[in-house]
Amino acid sequence: MVGTIQLNSRQERILQIVKDNGPITGEHIADQLNLTRATLRPDLAILTMAGYLDARPRVGYFYTGKTKTQLLTENLNNIFVKDFQSLPVVVKENVSVYDAIVTVFLEDVGTLFVVDENSCLVGVLSRKDLLRASIGKHELSSLPVNIIMTRMPNITVCQKEDLLIEVAKNLIEKQIDSVPVVKESEAGFEVIGRVTKTNITKAFVALADDDL
Ligand code: ADP
Repeated sequence: MVGTIQLNSRQERILQIVKDNGPITGEHIADQLNLTRATLRPDLAILTMAGYLDARPRVGYFYTGKTKTQLLTENLNNIFVKDFQSLPVVVKENVSVYDAIVTVFLEDVGTLFVVDENSCLVGVLSRKDLLRASIGKHELSSLPVNIIMTRMPNITVCQKEDLLIEVAKNLIEKQIDSVPVVKESEAGFEVIGRVTKTNITKAFVALADDDL
């Protein structure tokens, strides 16, 4: 898929010719620019893939009339969780808060997902959950994480075929940094991935770099 790309001057000229004369064949566009059809082929391919132009066999190219915003929206509606998710870091519900903090550092993540003996999601631990427990008068190595975690059913989840933009909206609305990617089974929600603000930022950059 192609993002809203920066067009070069020849592509802008082609676009103008098609806007003014479309539907028009590649041959005729080439004539107007005094170029060969072969020279134009890559530009026409880019303009078509990016959604600015459409091509009909035996009719030629015509301008789709889509604005940059429309094209961006179309592209956003084509980015799915599975394209940008990362691996989840999970802990069992009986591990200590101390061990969970060590895991956050060792795994270099901000959020841990807590699972039961069937590997199903039961809770979420954010950095602030762990900090809050740390400033209380608790013995951290004997305090299990299931006492302090945010627990099911109050956990926002997503699935790998969900749109990334919907997850982004959830992060903002719920004021959270990440959501687990889950697969529903008889036992509950198996945690198969995670989407964080970093994944969303990467998608944003890929969109700008036309790298999807
Ligand atoms: P932090 O607390 O470090 O700023 P978050 O903003 O992600 O990190 O977490 C805020 C609160 O929301 C925490 O109490 C955390 O347990 C909870 N939380 C985090 N992720 C989720 C989620 N996907 N669903 C429900 N609650 C969550």
